[in-house]
Amino acid sequence: MKTALVTGANQGIGFETARQLLRLGYFVYLGCRNRESAEQAMEKLRKEGLVTTDWVRLDVTDQKSVDDAAAHVAQRHPSVDVLINNAGIMGARPVAGEPYPVDEIRRVFETNVFGVIRVTQAFLPLLSRSDAPRVVNVTSGLGSLTRQSDPTWRYSHYKHPAYVSSKAALNAYTVVLSADLAPKGFKVNSVDPGHTTTAFNNYNKAGRNPEVSAAFVVKAAVLGADGPSGRFLSEEGPDGELPW
Ligand code: NAP
Repeated sequence: MKTALVTGANQGIGFETARQLLRLGYFVYLGCRNRESAEQAMEKLRKEGLVTTDWVRLDVTDQKSVDDAAAHVAQRHPSVDVLINNAGIMGARPVAGEPYPVDEIRRVFETNVFGVIRVTQAFLPLLSRSDAPRVVNVTSGLGSLTRQSDPTWRYSHYKHPAYVSSKAALNAYTVVLSADLAPKGFKVNSVDPGHTTTAFNNYNKAGRNPEVSAAFVVKAAVLGADGPSGRFLSEEGPDGELPW
């Protein structure tokens, strides 16, 4: 049975991604920050008969929690086949005319960028033992520098200093990581789930159903040997990709 870890799996796109990987027959670790939300998520899955799952306490900003999570999984599974770096935050709304606080940018980077790097490094030994390791960095179309430079783009007004720059930095990490790991059989991609109705945007009704977004994330998690690596996959772009 293949094994996956999804960070930020107690709700939203992460939860739906975990659910769909379970339906595909994976053993899925739900990375969650607290017991209560983890147990609620586990209960929902169990009620659907999805039982090949466990949760692991994982705050991506906390090195000890990440190391402990990797040790916990290593005691139970010889390898991890899929890592979904999904946990992410938006950061405080910019206030027009006011400088955006550097500390807030740092806080967002701590989750969206350093958190991803921290989790990936901690799980690399387990991923390296898989026959077909897959890393999915859940990014955003807002992190496309090309799109952000086009004033006619429909989201070009959305220039959140912390979120946009953190997802652009995450995309850079995807390129660097893929260059290192793709020759060893890994597939490492940035995946934009698209605008999705979740707690992230206060359940904005204009978004997609998380099940639809998660299906796109899962597609990148189960890529075959001929699949791409080091790409910015998105249903917003032509041929399923966005320009960096
Ligand atoms: P969500 O419903 O708010 O879920 C975010 C998840 O990340 C939650 O489980 C949250 O845990 C977890 N998380 C946040 N900080 C964490 C930390 N330090 N350590 C561990 N977990 C942490 O948001 P979502 O819409 O599903 O977003 C998932 C990903 O998709 C994010 O990376 C986001 O940037 C990306 N994305 C979303 C959209 C959209 O329109 N929704 C569009 C493009 C990209 P708690 O429940 O404990 O807070």
